[in-house]
Formats: sequence, C-alpha cells, structure tokens
Amino acid sequence: MEVGGELESMEEGCLSLPGIHETVKRGNKIRVKYLDENLEAHEEVVEGYLARVMQHEFDHLDGKVFVDHISPLRKQMIKGKLNALLKGKAHCNYKVKTVRK
Ligand SMILES: [Zn+2]
Repeated sequence: MEVGGELESMEEGCLSLPGIHETVKRGNKIRVKYLDENLEAHEEVVEGYLARVMQHEFDHLDGKVFVDHISPLRKQMIKGKLNALLKGKAHCNYKVKTVRK
C-alpha cells in the first residue's frame, strides 16, 4: 500500500481500544495491490473515507493501532486511559476480554 494525497485529520476510534477517540492525520489517497478470491491481481487507487478505513485496518495487520499515529505528547496525555485498558477497565457497549501476557 502506498499512501499519498493530502494529509487530513479525522477522529478515529477502534473496537480494540474502547472509549478512546483521537484525531489522526492520514493521507487521503492510497494505492493498493491485492489478490482476489481467484488469486487474480488487482491494483486500485482509493480515496477519502475508505482510504482512511483501509489504512486503519492495514495497520492492524502490522500490529499497529491508531494511537501509534498520535503525537508522543498526546499519547502521554491519554496514558491513564491506555493503562486502564491494559488492566481490563474498559467501559463500552460490547463484551470485551482482556488477555494479559
Ligand atoms: Zn481498529
């Protein structure tokens, strides 16, 4: 995936980080290459909201979450919320299970 276009800021959230929403800057255009269910190769340019969603989801494949894109200062400011999640203290409308290593 190649990211391009103009940087746009938008608030993001994630089922993996319940209760946390932060503004994330991402390029508004991506070029993706993928294989479909018949293993045929495709290449597409995707723009706008879908480009943001795909970047967010592709990050998960690399083990990243959206807070990895916020500033160190902002991350420090929400450290308490992130640590609470690590301890299983999540407040959301869906069931969650914290797995500690
Ligand atoms: Zn997510």
